[in-house]
Amino acid sequence: MYQKFNNRLAGQTAIVTGSSSGIGSAVALALAKEGANLVINYSRDEAGANKIVDAINSDDLAGTAIALHADVSKEDQVQEMFKKSIEHFGTIDILVNNAGLQRDFAVQDMSLADWQMVIDINLTGQFLCAREAIREFLKRGPRPEVSVATGKIICMSSVHEVIPWGGHVNYAASKGGVMMLMKSMAQELGSKKIRINSIAPGAIKTPINTHAWDTPAAETELLKLIPYNRVGEATDIGAVAAWLASDESDYIHGTTIFVDGGMTLYPGFYGNG
Ligand code: NAD
Repeated sequence: MYQKFNNRLAGQTAIVTGSSSGIGSAVALALAKEGANLVINYSRDEAGANKIVDAINSDDLAGTAIALHADVSKEDQVQEMFKKSIEHFGTIDILVNNAGLQRDFAVQDMSLADWQMVIDINLTGQFLCAREAIREFLKRGPRPEVSVATGKIICMSSVHEVIPWGGHVNYAASKGGVMMLMKSMAQELGSKKIRINSIAPGAIKTPINTHAWDTPAAETELLKLIPYNRVGEATDIGAVAAWLASDESDYIHGTTIFVDGGMTLYPGFYGNG
């Protein structure tokens, strides 16, 4: 079902957080197609995670996969997930910090709990997972037989790390935070050959935003924001993640790759400025 690509990640192990659905599962499948072993992390959807694990294990892929539960906003659960991953696969080479959610309200109606939940999962969760990955990379040292870099971290950001988003201030603040978390970690850890970048998706068809594309009227409205005139698919992000985790992108460090069909070109200004 999933054709093997170029084995660019053979012998490496990746943790993809929140990979029981959407972008995370497409990223996990894309990394597996390149030969990586996969930890499919989930917080609630065990059945979804097992489906991805089965798809990887039952196919003719170099990598194998296991599912591990952890709420990325909980320090003890994140540490336990890394411990079990390392016990099972020996080490970790790649972390994709993908887990995230939205809790949308006008500012005046947003409870502290709704603010805090989004910051805890989308931002603190990325810090907690990155910290454990970095600890493992530094402890283990280089593995030149599998990669030029000692370890790689990809943070799933959003176009809303730069585009303000009224009605979603908790989400936009979390992704703006992810940008500076990513850049500051990259500045701090580049000399250790730990390569850290972000992917910023635009509008991708997943469960997080179904209402924005699941009727023709909604899709037409959404397309006004996308110069390339199509809504993205999760596989668009998987393909970029596989390349960004590989040595082909070895000199890319501390930057955000926008995968958005041109959403960050501010198409509302066309002919109008
Ligand atoms: P999704 O809802 O399918 O995926 C999010 C995943 O995160 C789910 O599997 C969910 O179970 C998991 N998750 C939520 N809370 C968690 C927690 N506490 N611990 C562990 N996992 C948890 O939606 P998606 O669109 O695939 O989103 C994936 C990432 O992409 C998110 O960070 C999101 O912000 C980002 N993103 C998505 C889009 C888009 O258009 N779909 C655009 C920009 C950014």
